[in-house]
Amino acid sequence: MAQDKLGPLYPLLAPAVRRLIDRVAVVKGYLHSVESAGIRATLEPGSDARLRLTAVPNPASDRVIGAVTRLLSRARGEIGAAPIQLGLRKGPPGSGVHVGGSFPMRRRPGPLETDALGVPTRFSRVHVVDATTFPAMPAAPPTLTVMANAFRIAEASCSS
Ligand SMILES: Cc1cc2nc3c(=O)[nH]c(=O)nc-3n(C[C@H](O)[C@H](O)[C@H](O)COP(=O)(O)OP(=O)(O)OC[C@H]3O[C@@H](n4cnc5c(N)ncnc54)[C@H](O)[C@@H]3O)c2cc1C
Repeated sequence: MAQDKLGPLYPLLAPAVRRLIDRVAVVKGYLHSVESAGIRATLEPGSDARLRLTAVPNPASDRVIGAVTRLLSRARGEIGAAPIQLGLRKGPPGSGVHVGGSFPMRRRPGPLETDALGVPTRFSRVHVVDATTFPAMPAAPPTLTVMANAFRIAEASCSS
């Protein structure tokens, strides 16, 4: 990456760059789904029906990333590190691994939504239990919440 950025200057700056890299940590962050890009899924009917996935960028992403970067920069004394603007990368839509909310749970579900027990509209004996039922995806690691939600749905559905 440093070589790509510095181009012909790299051989000259390589010793300093190597010393800098020894002191660099890479931090990966996630955005809440309200602030991150979405993916629109469209089923194109026909004999060779296709599911088309289209990225839907969200202008809030850049605002939040900028705010977090500024916050880290202001707190550099306390944390003993500062963000390097040059190294900032925003993953393209869909590159994250906290994906969900395609069939969100609603109190009064509409088309392509589920009720509080993950039952999709117009179904009665099907329960969806994975992250697809989340009304929103948190920035924080979601797996324990996914598991707790699946357990809740299974327990409530089996006892009803
Ligand atoms: C590389 C990576 C690292 C991650 N690190 C973390 C982490 O550190 N902490 C954290 O909290 N989360 C992490 N995540 C995210 C986490 O793995 C997911 O959010 C979580 O697994 C979602 O659970 P899920 O049950 O909704 O979906 P999945 O775990 O994807 O389960 C869906 C299941 O449905 C099955 N399935 C799909 N279609 C069908 C079908 N038609 N019929 C039958 N079965 C089907 C799939 O095979 C799969 O087993 C990570 C994800 C990745 C990819």
